[in-house]
Amino acid sequence: PGVQLPHDPSKKTLVILGSGWGATSLLNSLDTADYNVYVISPRNYFLFTPLLPSVATGTLSPRSILQPTRHVTRHKEREVHVIEAAATDVDPHAKTVTFEDSSEVQGLISHTTLKYDYLVYAVGAETQTFNIPGVREHACFMKELDDAERMQRRFMDCVESAAFPGQSKEEVNRLLHMVVVGGGPTGVELSGELHDFLEEDLRSWYPELAHHIRITLVEALPSVLPMFSKQLIEYTESTFKEAKIDIQTKTMVKEIKEKSVVLQMPDKSIAEVPCGMVVWAAGNTLRGVTRQLMAKLPEDQANRRGITVDETLRMKGADGVFAIGDCTATSYAPTAQVAQQEGSYLGRILKQLAKKDSAVAELEAAKALPDSDPEKASKIKSLEHQCTKLEKLRPFKYSHQGSLAYIGSDRAIADLPFFSGGNLATGGVATYLFWRSAYLSKLFSLRNRALVANDWIKVKLFGRDTSRE
Ligand code: FAD
Ligand code: NAD
Repeated sequence: PGVQLPHDPSKKTLVILGSGWGATSLLNSLDTADYNVYVISPRNYFLFTPLLPSVATGTLSPRSILQPTRHVTRHKEREVHVIEAAATDVDPHAKTVTFEDSSEVQGLISHTTLKYDYLVYAVGAETQTFNIPGVREHACFMKELDDAERMQRRFMDCVESAAFPGQSKEEVNRLLHMVVVGGGPTGVELSGELHDFLEEDLRSWYPELAHHIRITLVEALPSVLPMFSKQLIEYTESTFKEAKIDIQTKTMVKEIKEKSVVLQMPDKSIAEVPCGMVVWAAGNTLRGVTRQLMAKLPEDQANRRGITVDETLRMKGADGVFAIGDCTATSYAPTAQVAQQEGSYLGRILKQLAKKDSAVAELEAAKALPDSDPEKASKIKSLEHQCTKLEKLRPFKYSHQGSLAYIGSDRAIADLPFFSGGNLATGGVATYLFWRSAYLSKLFSLRNRALVANDWIKVKLFGRDTSRE
């Protein structure tokens, strides 16, 4: 391994891959004094994904939902090395990670290899396209910050092109038809936010066009939001009906073209529907680097959904590797809530492992004492006892706090496990405020809370910005 960074040889090296929900939550709970810690991620920030659809419609400014990773690590007891790079290869046998600077600007050295004692693998997932033709070329995704900014530009471009003098009614209708693919929470929240943008701002600034704007949500399954209760699904459907968001269930996107989307309708017929923008929110798939890593351990890692871990989140077949979040295949849904709890659990586990590792080192030292030492036997016995105790790791237990989604029109839905009926469905100001306060409290830093609250007030007072950057 070629990398030479400030290093304490008496401590083990912990490498964390990623700066998302799992990794950031781990960093928050980790005692960095225990390890030489390296965080490697192609993004040097944490992205608060639940509010990404609000960025796509200009309700929030992009920077409000980002937290630079160095803002997290700077407050830690011992220095953490933050490296902006993407892992390109993990060798679970040699215990090394190879990574490269994949950004626009690179120095003379832009890729290297680092040896780890422990690796926390938290690289998340990428958008699933099912290799459907035209998705990558013509659709906008809703996963990364760039995706939201791109969608906002595309949306306003469609509106401005529709306003071009002499545009035919047919072309105006095409340009202003927005198709959202995927009736999971991402697609539903984005449709709701697009509707708010239309009602609260575009009606004032583009009165001649606003009534031409149509939003269609396409879902292959028989209903949207399958993870929510039936009552909440119906509530969402009726809210969307009032909002004139057209939900097309049992309808599958087969191809996306430059100016249209090809649908397989419930009766299996094919329809080509003209549109100005398609947003693709059809779920997750594994990253290439994760597939590569799993392929190196074919006996233990055969689940196509993701990395198999044991009950303490250790990757099966790989010594010293933990995997958390969307890159794993567990019985939990791929959500921020799960990744966050896994991250803080690992913080506690790594504390225990550090104690165990130092007890093991002390045991080795005690064994090396001369036999004449009167305390040697008792020292060894007590340290062996400590090591056995510390070796037992408490399994990870997920505690579901409920699911919450914004559905537009100042309404949110909530499946909260602690309500007697099992869930709660409400609309109006109370739920809206609950949704907002829940998300505000979940933002990791005071700075982000202030920025998001400020954006919400700004939009209330002045409306959303319709300029196309
Ligand atoms: P991520 O948070 O995606 O982090 C992965 C990290 O790995 C990133 O920092 C990335 O840059 C980095 N990375 C990528 N490739 C490499 C590489 N090669 N080497 C090193 N690092 C790499 N969940 C909820 O519970 N509630 C919600 O309201 C909610 N809303 C959502 C809204 C949207 C629009 C989206 C897209 C998702 C939402 N989710 C929500 C799901 C949630 O965001 C994910 O489950 C969560 O981000 C998973 O955390 P993670 O740490 O596994 O991955
Ligand atoms: P998802 O996997 O939940 O939903 C994707 C949907 O797209 C599926 O219902 C699927 O049937 C549909 N689909 C796939 N291919 C299609 C096609 N060709 N044509 C039509 N429909 C198609 O994806 P998501 O909404 O991005 O969510 C990903 C994860 O993030 C989930 O675990 C979700 O719970 C979590 N999340 C949670 C929240 C929240 O709690 N508020 C918000 C966003 C995301």
